[in-house]
Amino acid sequence: MNIIQPDIDFIQQTKKISGSSLKECMQCGECTVVCAITPESNPFPRKEVFWAGWGLKDKLIGNPDIWLCHQCGDCSTYCPRGIKPADILAALRQINYLHYAKPKFIAKILNNPVFFPISLAIPLVVILAIIYAAGTLKIPPGPVNFSKFFPHAWLNSSFLTLTLLVISTTLFSIRKFWSDLKNNYPGKKQLSKFRSVKSVINEIMTHSNFSKCNSQKHRRTSHLMVFYGFILLLLVTVMAIIAVITDNYPLPFFSPVKIAGNFAALLLLTGLGIMIYQRLFNKEISGNSNYSDWLLLISFFLLTLSGVFLEIGRFQNWNISYHIYIFHLVSVWFIIIYAPYMKFGHFLYRTVALVYAKSRGRNTYIIS
Ligand code: SF4
Ligand code: SF4
Repeated sequence: MNIIQPDIDFIQQTKKISGSSLKECMQCGECTVVCAITPESNPFPRKEVFWAGWGLKDKLIGNPDIWLCHQCGDCSTYCPRGIKPADILAALRQINYLHYAKPKFIAKILNNPVFFPISLAIPLVVILAIIYAAGTLKIPPGPVNFSKFFPHAWLNSSFLTLTLLVISTTLFSIRKFWSDLKNNYPGKKQLSKFRSVKSVINEIMTHSNFSKCNSQKHRRTSHLMVFYGFILLLLVTVMAIIAVITDNYPLPFFSPVKIAGNFAALLLLTGLGIMIYQRLFNKEISGNSNYSDWLLLISFFLLTLSGVFLEIGRFQNWNISYHIYIFHLVSVWFIIIYAPYMKFGHFLYRTVALVYAKSRGRNTYIIS
């Protein structure tokens, strides 16, 4: 006889993050029927709502299906009991990346608004300490020149060290996640890892699954804008670092790198603007927005906006350019340090879960 042992804390946590009730579900299966991207065998999200309601945490940690959901909201729209399966699955994804992220205390700081000042103070103090160690912690006289305030050698080496540190800790988490996927959902391998990765990259580049959404048609456009804006911004950052190393910095306003950077900012601000607008004024369809959702959206928006003001400030020689510079650096470091603990971590876990699901043949859709 199987004895079910509900994890009450898990139930409470899922309810709190999703803002949705769990017990009212009558298991009608409507949510699964309307989902356009669920596989034919063992479809979601009905079973996940059931497991969450019973606190079956073991079934929902290291579960690939919750990552196949693209939060289109169709299931929430059609649920006859007013339950929000889309929000429940989003909450389960959050619980998952918090489960795998190490060290745990950073995850706790970052997901509780009470600790927001601490989460902000950490990158600020570290940046100021590095500039102090470089001996340049004062506003330099004359035209704006950021390298006189934060020497490029110090900036690039600290930035690189930090990024490598975050990547290495994240790789440990991802390894554990992959091993849990294999242990919890063994399945027969049907596609090689290479072909699975290729297929997932193709899916990510086109965001094809978003086009199956009915309730939130805008999601594909806004996500594509943010995705390509971010990729372009990463490329521009690498080009800027190369320009620094080869002594070609600062770049003129009309250099191709600057133009690409400005275009990336435009894509990001527009895409993020659409997302923020939908969450503020289209709540019924966008679903529940919790602290973690807002933290990611606002921090990305402020990072991009401060980058734009930074550029204008440098060309216009604004007095407050160095203050904007500090703000911008804190935003950049905030995102880098905390990426695995924020909703940003979604991108990594979803990609890994999609690769795993593809390799196990979980990619046939009810509606094509
Ligand atoms: S549609 Fe609503 S009530 Fe029906 S199974 Fe899904 S969550 Fe439960
Ligand atoms: S939010 Fe969309 S993709 Fe996710 S389970 Fe519901 S209908 Fe399916």
